Amino acid sequence: MTPYITKPKGIFMNRIYNFSAGPATLPTDVLLEAQSELLDYQGSGMSIMEMSHRGKYYDAVHQEALANFRELLEVPEEYAILFLQGGATTQFSQIPMNLRGEGQVADYINAGAWSKKAIKEAKILGEVNIAADCGSEIPTRQATQEELNLTPGAAYLHCCSNETISGAQIKEFPKSDAPLVCDMSSDILSRRLKISDFGMIYAGAQKNLGPAGVTLVIIRKDLAERVSDKVPEMLRYSTHIANDSLFNTPPTFGIYLLCLVTRWLKQHGGLEAMEALNDRKSGKLYAAIDASDFYSGTAVKEFRSTMNVTYRLPTEELEKKFIAEATAKGLDGLKGHRSVGGIRASIYNAMPEAGVDALIAFMQEFEAANA
Ligand SMILES: *Cc1c(COP(=O)(O)O)cnc(C)c1O
Repeated sequence: MTPYITKPKGIFMNRIYNFSAGPATLPTDVLLEAQSELLDYQGSGMSIMEMSHRGKYYDAVHQEALANFRELLEVPEEYAILFLQGGATTQFSQIPMNLRGEGQVADYINAGAWSKKAIKEAKILGEVNIAADCGSEIPTRQATQEELNLTPGAAYLHCCSNETISGAQIKEFPKSDAPLVCDMSSDILSRRLKISDFGMIYAGAQKNLGPAGVTLVIIRKDLAERVSDKVPEMLRYSTHIANDSLFNTPPTFGIYLLCLVTRWLKQHGGLEAMEALNDRKSGKLYAAIDASDFYSGTAVKEFRSTMNVTYRLPTEELEKKFIAEATAKGLDGLKGHRSVGGIRASIYNAMPEAGVDALIAFMQEFEAANA
């Protein structure tokens, strides 16, 4: 057995450290809680996923999850919080469909693979201006305010706060006269935000929130009113606002887990504590990378992600060996995205600091044996 395997709460199980980018590791306490009430949810005699989404048990979960997000992110009254389906990818088309008027231009920042996908979809339906384009630069980075070429009267400005594949994160959000729309799939709830700086934020759940199948949307209600009546009802934000995300059957089990994860975050000090923990975890890992000539970070330092730490070894052979040996030691999911290679350690909220310490210890061992 390896020294890195954890055995939480004395329960017999082998939980490894899972550095996968998504679906990603969840808090063990949350999984244990879900397990404990799986067969009989609060005396109902059935699991939460087997019951009506309009009954009292599920309704309480739904409302608590919404309230937890509102509290954690300090979401003002004039914003709606929605649980949708179709992943962040569906948002790539739903956003222009709802927020860009006939003949209007939408500004987009291209900072990498996910920005590019959002841009591609927005172009299918109308006009896009690329306000900045640093999406193919190596080392990877995010755009700066100075380089933005904004359209007067644009419908909105779109950005991706954390490029999950390259590991470049926005530290200071761009400013525009148009509402800011941000894909936060891989860093939502990792740090404090000022929601009023945004027109809309969205995130697929499977990185930092819970299991795949739910998409979180937070939108200023007046923006949702822009939608044309040519847009199908299911694809309008206004439909889901009017129905409290219960227009059709929501992904109940996923929302239940979001409820448990947000409850867990509140118990652990909320976003202020998470931000400090994430700064500490990523700080140590980047310090270990910088202290060695063997490892080299792939993002420009001032944009280094606190969530997805990307780096390289001297050769691809060594990278393969590193990944294989790490996996054998219970440090899984470290292979970089197929499009960029290298190593990617995804260290979302649920990755314990001990997991990062174990990774650093392994990196030092591996360097000593292979440098
Ligand atoms: C994973 C990811 C997506 C895609 O999410 P899906 O839920 O698979 O559609 C979009 N944007 C970012 C930044 C991501 O990390």
